[in-house]
Amino acid sequence: MTGSDNPFLALAAPGIAGLQPYLPGKPIAELERELGIRGSIKLASNENPLGPGRLARAAVAAALGELGRYPDGGGFELRAALGRRHGVDPSAVTLGNGSNDVLDLIARTFLQPGVESVFSEHAFAVYPIATQAVGAAARIAPARAYGHDLDAMAALVTERTRVVWIANPNNPTGTWVPAQRLRAFIAALPETCMVVVDEAYTDYVEEPEFPDATRWLADLPNLIVTRTFAKVHGLAALRVGYGLSDPRVADLLNRVRQPFNVNSLAQAAALAALDDVEHVAASVALNRAGMAQLRAGCERLGLGYIPSVGNFLTIDLGRPAAPVYDALLREGCITRPVANYGLPNHLRVSIGLEAENQRFLASLERVLAAC
Ligand SMILES: *Cc1c(COP(=O)(O)O)cnc(C)c1O
Repeated sequence: MTGSDNPFLALAAPGIAGLQPYLPGKPIAELERELGIRGSIKLASNENPLGPGRLARAAVAAALGELGRYPDGGGFELRAALGRRHGVDPSAVTLGNGSNDVLDLIARTFLQPGVESVFSEHAFAVYPIATQAVGAAARIAPARAYGHDLDAMAALVTERTRVVWIANPNNPTGTWVPAQRLRAFIAALPETCMVVVDEAYTDYVEEPEFPDATRWLADLPNLIVTRTFAKVHGLAALRVGYGLSDPRVADLLNRVRQPFNVNSLAQAAALAALDDVEHVAASVALNRAGMAQLRAGCERLGLGYIPSVGNFLTIDLGRPAAPVYDALLREGCITRPVANYGLPNHLRVSIGLEAENQRFLASLERVLAAC
């Protein structure tokens, strides 16, 4: 049903009419149902190809007996552990059903019709959706070399700006902002505007100038840092992430939060995953090798790409990506088209296991030769 023939649209809150739903990566089961094939691979949602670590798996198994009870709505143990990890009081932590939930809480707390949020061209798709859903206006700064142009973003900030969104590194470009520049940018913003630094991929980054924005929380009261257990910790299905902020900001976010937004399996798994340094190290090492493999494959095929510090690579096909994406699906290979990010000639590919990366590159080579 389109907007024009939906009579309920007139009843909906402001912003809903212009909302485009988030486009997730295609699930393996859906592709296999549609095409009647087996043995597909999914490199479409920046998931950890190793899945959860041993400690998180054991914690989930141990928590099964308590499924009849509501989870701890305050997330006492997980918030305490996150407070210790980041050197903040637990009252600075807001738990989310995925960090997506925290982004949504921020929008619902600080945005409304008549105010604005600022983000970059090619920024993570949740920022425009969260902004639009609550009827606020988006101001979008042009990117520079696919990355965030902080000067262009600063130029869009006015007294109406309530939230500035920055993913560092950004998805789907894999670009990043160095510490000094990011800190100076945030410090120069008016305190009437919150700055969200979304660090979903931070564990993968090995650049010396890459910041840990959680270290700045004490000095920058309008800063909110978000993290997730969905990526390097391999817990995407459980939906658990968090925000760190001034406790007075967390107090507001927690007023909006659903009381039981993070389920008990997710809390148990996240708590265990935090201590699983071996699994994080193995995941980062696998990613490093897979990134080199994919980059080398692209170079062999004569394809450009946006240099990425995340667990994905966005490849420039030099022609419309949609038919290539479709042909890859028929090969049982799910990737992510990014035309909705203003990148119609690019395809985003998550780093998989060595054999998955190899299979993707072989399929890509076949598909490019055929179409
Ligand atoms: C994957 C991702 C997230 C994490 O989302 P969850 O809701 O925690 O699964 C957040 N921000 C960016 C930029 C991402 O790519």
